[in-house]
Amino acid sequence: MVIDYGLKFLIFALCFFWPQMRDIQLFKKHIAQPLKMVILTHFNPDADALGSSIGLSRYLTKKGHSVVIIAPSDYPDFIGWMPAQDEVTIFKKDRSDRIAQVIRDACTIFCLDFSSLNRINELGEMVRQSSAKKVLIDHHLEPEKFADFEQWDGSAASTAELVYQLIVELGDKDLIDSDMADCLYAGIMTDTGGFRHSNTNQKVFKIASELVEIGASPHKVSKLIYDTNTIERLRLTGYVLNEKLQVLPEYKTAYIVLTAEELMRHGSQNGDTEGLVNYGLSIKGIRLSVIISDRRENIKLSLRSLGNFSVNEMARAHFSGGGHRNAAGGQTNLTLDQTVKKFLDLLPLYKDQLVAD
Ligand code: 5GP
Ligand code: MN
Repeated sequence: MVIDYGLKFLIFALCFFWPQMRDIQLFKKHIAQPLKMVILTHFNPDADALGSSIGLSRYLTKKGHSVVIIAPSDYPDFIGWMPAQDEVTIFKKDRSDRIAQVIRDACTIFCLDFSSLNRINELGEMVRQSSAKKVLIDHHLEPEKFADFEQWDGSAASTAELVYQLIVELGDKDLIDSDMADCLYAGIMTDTGGFRHSNTNQKVFKIASELVEIGASPHKVSKLIYDTNTIERLRLTGYVLNEKLQVLPEYKTAYIVLTAEELMRHGSQNGDTEGLVNYGLSIKGIRLSVIISDRRENIKLSLRSLGNFSVNEMARAHFSGGGHRNAAGGQTNLTLDQTVKKFLDLLPLYKDQLVAD
């Protein structure tokens, strides 16, 4: 009974406060005068994280704001072509005080492409303590409630598309130039797996088409992201497919385990393992694919699924992670072997869901 009233109150409170959180007029008023702003994106930024951050940063700069993008870690070379790289500060321990000061001085903090502050490590606490207005623009499931204004949509394929919609809603579509369009297009293209994943819908194509109309170049962006491999990366892919891809048909599961030594031996750079997890899922009949790699600082997991099987739930419940229903990530502080054992031991518990049609 107590729970029942509690729930009713919670629903009432959410309905009461929600419109305020999404009030575009309040947001418009807040950004009407030039402000110091910070844009933060998640650890290991991908094309959606960096593309949406640079797209938004360029827009805000054109509106007269002073903007710094802060990334919790470095990002792979294949997104190093995006413009305004000099506006991106990568977090390093020895820059921590300076970065903390920038965050303290900010009037507005945008959090892009992540939904909980623990995805930005030490920066999370700095954001929590800041008195700046916080803006969340994101599409990951189960967002933490820390923002004053939210452009959140769990059904959106990418954060880039939410940034685009926000700029359009603010009446500033004409401020999007072809460089910004390339960045936003890159976010949409990669988060839909090249317009192939189940999140690829009419809205995705509509926004992508509008970006192309503005000047985004699909050929240039896809060449830069998908077809600018190093030979080491291709050889790592060959090695993984030949020797490391394991298939467990009884669980409709494929998995890959990579040791730190294997990554080093193949001269692996940041981002070189990105996309490998999709090969497992391309095998006929496979519904769950996982790559577990030893990153030295921790063990990182990338999980992908088909259909109703939720890797967001699996990553959240067992690997301190999360993401989307069909694409999620996580990590452990166990050893690689212990992490693999933990994963394999889970499969019988999920067997019914995995083999269900
Ligand atoms: P990836 O496997 O490519 O690193 O990530 C897949 C999806 O899960 C992305 O949307 C990414 O932002 C999210 N993700 C990756 N790692 C984590 C994590 O540790 N925690 C949470 N909450 N999401 C993650
Ligand atoms: Mn994204």
